[in-house]
Amino acid sequence: MAHPCSRLGRWLPLLLALAALAAWGAHLAPAADAPLRIIVFGAHPDDCDLDAGGSAILWAQKGHAVKFVSLTNGDAGHQSEGGGALAKRRRLEAQEAGRRFGIAEYEVLDNHDGELEPTLAVRLEVIRRIRRWNADLVIAPRPNDYHPDHRNTGLVVQDTAYMVVVPNVAPDTPPLRKNPVYMYAQDHFQRPNPFRPDVAVDIDSVIDRKIQAIDAHVSQFYEWLPWVDGKLDGVPKDPAARLAWLQQWRSFRPLNDDVKAALRKWYGPKGDAVKNAEAFEICEYGSRPTDADLRRLFPFFD
Ligand SMILES: [Zn+2]
Repeated sequence: MAHPCSRLGRWLPLLLALAALAAWGAHLAPAADAPLRIIVFGAHPDDCDLDAGGSAILWAQKGHAVKFVSLTNGDAGHQSEGGGALAKRRRLEAQEAGRRFGIAEYEVLDNHDGELEPTLAVRLEVIRRIRRWNADLVIAPRPNDYHPDHRNTGLVVQDTAYMVVVPNVAPDTPPLRKNPVYMYAQDHFQRPNPFRPDVAVDIDSVIDRKIQAIDAHVSQFYEWLPWVDGKLDGVPKDPAARLAWLQQWRSFRPLNDDVKAALRKWYGPKGDAVKNAEAFEICEYGSRPTDADLRRLFPFFD
């Protein structure tokens, strides 16, 4: 009787060949049930959180891999702090928020806040990150926004669509074989065209967790943004009280009619009851998803 090891030895080449074939097949066509890989870009270390934090929690709960990337270090976002010390503080806040969202990574790039320009260097930084993440879905702001950092983030990320598959661009990082789906996060700007919610995600089940995660950005939600709005005096000092204050401030923002229509399209009549949603618009420069593709990328509608 052959020793088990020698029997294994006989079959090993075949097993290795089958494993290689499976890996090759998986590379060309990911299995329908393979975890999704989503990468979200924002200009500042709290933008991804607001744009897609609820959806990120839902993806993570289902075992999908989500990464947030802030293209600036946030070193201008405070009334009395700044520079490297503020950047360090905000990086730590982002790490804590990422932990609370349950996402795989939250990366903060070291570009100055308030000074982001759509340069080739920034574009290459973004291309490399999308490739390394092997992204199925890329989310970013639209290039129409009041804040030049947001606008330039939208422009830079949009300009990586297609370039991520071109081997001679950023040749130090292997290209993707397939252009990901690119989507814009929701905003309220009207010119030159308003945001169109192609997909809307019901985040009612995780809105409390979303607010608890953005609560990690103490420098923003309890200091800088209230100071900008002239309501710093109204922020409670006690952590529990200020979280309740934040929930009042950030939850249950009225949904516009287009988002309500998108919720009804994807969820049916039960979409009418949704109070908190995140919406996304297809960018026509990425892969053009069918409704079936969108149901695979947003596995939340059943
Ligand atoms: Zn921002």
